[in-house]
Amino acid sequence: MVNDAHRERNAVLSIMTIRTLIVLSSFLWVLFLPSAVLAGQAPIRVVATIFPLTDIVREIGGTRVYVTTLLTGGMSEHTFEPTTSQIRQMAYASLYVRVGAQMDTWGDKLLAAAKRPPVIVTATSGIPLLSVHQQELEWNHRAGGHQHEGDDPHVWLDPVLVRDHVVPAVVDALIRISPKDAPYFRANGGKYILALSRLDQDMRTGIGSLSKKDFIALHGAWHYLAKRYGLRQIAAVEPFPGKEPSAKYLAALVSLARKKRVTTIFAEPQLSAKAAEVIARELKGRVLLLDPLGGEMIRERNGYIPLMRYNLSIIARGMK
Ligand SMILES: [Zn+2]
Repeated sequence: MVNDAHRERNAVLSIMTIRTLIVLSSFLWVLFLPSAVLAGQAPIRVVATIFPLTDIVREIGGTRVYVTTLLTGGMSEHTFEPTTSQIRQMAYASLYVRVGAQMDTWGDKLLAAAKRPPVIVTATSGIPLLSVHQQELEWNHRAGGHQHEGDDPHVWLDPVLVRDHVVPAVVDALIRISPKDAPYFRANGGKYILALSRLDQDMRTGIGSLSKKDFIALHGAWHYLAKRYGLRQIAAVEPFPGKEPSAKYLAALVSLARKKRVTTIFAEPQLSAKAAEVIARELKGRVLLLDPLGGEMIRERNGYIPLMRYNLSIIARGMK
């Protein structure tokens, strides 16, 4: 009897607790909404394929945008496949921001799920593109590698291309979606352009003073950056990102590195560093991590500009 009453009281209590939680949570969610919603405006929903693009859109769209990134989980932009649950992200997107040049076609596949076709910004559009691994091509043919011809998509790793092409394209797209916010987007874009110019200046100074010019990186991501600042990516450890290179290819890479006096191999957090470590051991050199993507939760790389400053510091360390 006593036990029953006790149990009943507990049950009543737990129902009350659940009710309280439900009531509380229905207020708490307000805290997590962008301020645009609180001001009575629904945010512009944006889907970006990679984190650097997400951050660029946030810098320009500010409180007026809600941006989600398709590529998550520390994957490479060349090996990623979106999950089926990510289809929902595209359903209500007003803006879709991609790199293009065949790199993130995995994002394009989700476009069919959009309730209305979103405005699309393609980062590579309007930029004279390098051909894939252009500078490595000749050497790679001799080393017995097989290169695909095609456009090099990695334009976002050159801050000047971002400043002069990607930022204006995002400003225009956001204005098209919400014309009344044009002054806000233009002001944010202007501020961001200044910040990118400062980044460019620092990269110019930082890289300009380095004694070495040639480097080897895990995949052909750094040609635009190299071209901008007077460096040369002479070879990629993995001409096909995600595919282990052959022993013959690695041996050719080691002799190329010796000839060019390269001792630092730049690997990347999203791809296995195993092959890079093999080469570095042969050269009695070392592996440092450059990062083409960064991410929301990664310290020091949780924004496009911090990411590029991180890469600058790694290049400076590896090529003194
Ligand atoms: Zn890449």
